[in-house]
Amino acid sequence: MRKNIVAGNWKMNNNATQTKALINDLKVALEKVSANCRVLISPTSINLTSAVAATKGSVIEVSAQNMHQATSGAYTGEISANMLQDVGVKTVILGHSERRTFFGEDDTMLTEKVTTALENNLEIIFCFGELLEDRKSDNHFNVVESQLKNVVLALNASAWKNIVLAYEPVWAIGTGETASPEQAQEMHAFIRGLVEATYGKTLANNVSILYGGSVKPANAQEIFSKQDVDGGLIGGASLNATDFTGIITAF
Ligand code: PEP
Repeated sequence: MRKNIVAGNWKMNNNATQTKALINDLKVALEKVSANCRVLISPTSINLTSAVAATKGSVIEVSAQNMHQATSGAYTGEISANMLQDVGVKTVILGHSERRTFFGEDDTMLTEKVTTALENNLEIIFCFGELLEDRKSDNHFNVVESQLKNVVLALNASAWKNIVLAYEPVWAIGTGETASPEQAQEMHAFIRGLVEATYGKTLANNVSILYGGSVKPANAQEIFSKQDVDGGLIGGASLNATDFTGIITAF
């Protein structure tokens, strides 16, 4: 059966000192509650090693925000899947809208990244979602379908034990505007239907589908209560231990 997950994406925030402090705050906050979900944080790559050490023995897992598609070589400034594994990172976020928009990550590149991550036994949180103009023109289902078909729905069924989906409507990321619980459920049911049509009901029921886009403690419970929403990918609110814990305890 699929797992509920709350994953924080810290983006380019928190230096080494702040990373340790936030992890410490989070550990203290989580000791007082029972987390009925997996909890992940994604610090910047320079702080992954210390984050793995700082979270050891706690419920908090550490994921990366990105990795390069090549296994090694002349790619100045990049980080490989093996480097993530080597420092104890087991999960990587791929396809975030900021990577797609600011760093030109398209379906072809993401297919390469997904393939490399899977070959290196990394779990993937695969992000996708429509732009505001797609939703306004009623094209959001088509956009999401093509983002999935061009990358993860082309994988063998066996790969899916390491795939988590994160639907993130771009118009809701960092804007304070959230998809309504009904809009989230409608899209998540559509996504699960696509997975079912490709791989069958059992696999589709076992895939965790996260919602991302301005999730806060105040709206998490209602969004997470929807049948096909299995948790959230959290940006801004994951930078504060109290807010992040408030979202985690929404389950
Ligand atoms: C994100 O960046 O994945 C995200 C959902 O950000 P925020 O929660 O700030 O909208």
